[in-house]
Amino acid sequence: MSKQKIVILGGGESGVGAALLAKEKGYDVFLSDGNMLQPKYEQELQDHLIEYEVGKHTELRILEAVEIIKSPGIPDDIPIVKEIMAHNIPIVSEIEFASRYTNAKIIAITGSNGKTTTTLLTYHLLKSAGFNVGVAGNVGNSFAREILINQCDYWVLEVSSFQLDNCYEFKPDIAVILNITPDHMDRYNYNFQNYVDSKFRILQKGDANQAFIYFKDNPAIALELKQKTLPQKHFPISLNDTIDNGAYSLGKDIHFRLKQNGLTFNLAPEEIPLKGKHNQTNIMAAVLACLEVGANPESLREYFKTFKGIEHRLEEVATINGIRFINDSKATNVDSVFYALDSFDENIIWIAGGIDKGNDYDKIKDLVKQKVKYLVCLGIDNDKLFNYFRNEVKIVVQTDNIKDAVEQAYEFARKGDIVLLSPACASFDLFQNYEDRGNQYKKAVGKLSKLDGVKRD
Ligand code: ADP
Repeated sequence: MSKQKIVILGGGESGVGAALLAKEKGYDVFLSDGNMLQPKYEQELQDHLIEYEVGKHTELRILEAVEIIKSPGIPDDIPIVKEIMAHNIPIVSEIEFASRYTNAKIIAITGSNGKTTTTLLTYHLLKSAGFNVGVAGNVGNSFAREILINQCDYWVLEVSSFQLDNCYEFKPDIAVILNITPDHMDRYNYNFQNYVDSKFRILQKGDANQAFIYFKDNPAIALELKQKTLPQKHFPISLNDTIDNGAYSLGKDIHFRLKQNGLTFNLAPEEIPLKGKHNQTNIMAAVLACLEVGANPESLREYFKTFKGIEHRLEEVATINGIRFINDSKATNVDSVFYALDSFDENIIWIAGGIDKGNDYDKIKDLVKQKVKYLVCLGIDNDKLFNYFRNEVKIVVQTDNIKDAVEQAYEFARKGDIVLLSPACASFDLFQNYEDRGNQYKKAVGKLSKLDGVKRD
């Protein structure tokens, strides 16, 4: 009998991971990418004798497939995807495909912001507690690749809306929705509800055993849950209200309360390594997930001490002449900037800009007025940002390279101030990606520290 054909669209980490797994599972695999592949991925495909094409999509070959695995970066409206749909060939995501090949317990984490932080924190806590756990998805290796190389009892998965879009049977044992705020509207026909629906696909196959952890204060989540039946086992998180079966914080301590075993457990601010209210919600979600799989709360407390935070997310870079430099390059939307600004009591010199994904700055206007002393716009086209804030902030300047931006910010800053790179925008106008932007920022700050140590009061 001839092998069944699987076609993979897209040859990045998830596409190549899926190709390797499909090959291992006995499929006849063909990978097609409209662009070039990274050399390391091309090499892997060749090493595993997997056929592929780059720079085109050959319809005839693609339409032979019994199933297509589509990479999350590929939108639905490109011609080849439309053609596949017209031929009724099922399209699944790599997460859906990989999940067929494991019986491990899955903790899946989605949200507009905080996925990586919560995923890595959950993984760190469980790993430290001795669980046989792996981490995959949108962070690190693809799930398909991890399934091939590691036998774990638990998986912590970061899942994006694009990955959920093509999930149908995927059923995490623990589903987490951290928040839903406007993002990626270009991929959802500028219809916020489409994006909300996508996030809620994480629950679509849920049963009575599935645990659902969610941030109940988030308006989009709250509204959606009014129209849905809440999963039986649900654990809300709140920053506004006390919660008797979930977690909450009304300012200082974080409280965990579980009805099922009468557990009560508190974390004090000094025990928490991550700054800001947003991170409180991330911590609540991570700890609730750990408790749900049976971790001991008292020991979790210990493991926080060894969690170091994550690069490019409110990362402390340096303090120079009493001025703290923070790298929040991953803040590519308005909501993440809101929480960044909210995390500091000091005066802020804010570096922002890049490619605007349809930002509505009204949401942060008041906070900016209250906290930001100077705004340094950093981008090729700064018009929108500049014009919006020129009357709200004392001084707004424009730059088009990171060195100038950092030097200007340093020039304005005084002892005790914070210089915060938190762009609210994508990075592709001046940088390869947000990591490149964050790294260049750190380098530019590093150069400042070599300047003379003038006292600036
Ligand atoms: P994601 O993986 O969803 O993009 P990250 O953990 O990488 O999330 O964080 C992205 C940006 O959002 C960072 O600037 C971070 O400080 C901010 N952030 C993290 N958690 C939250 C949250 N729960 N709500 C809002 N912003 C957040």
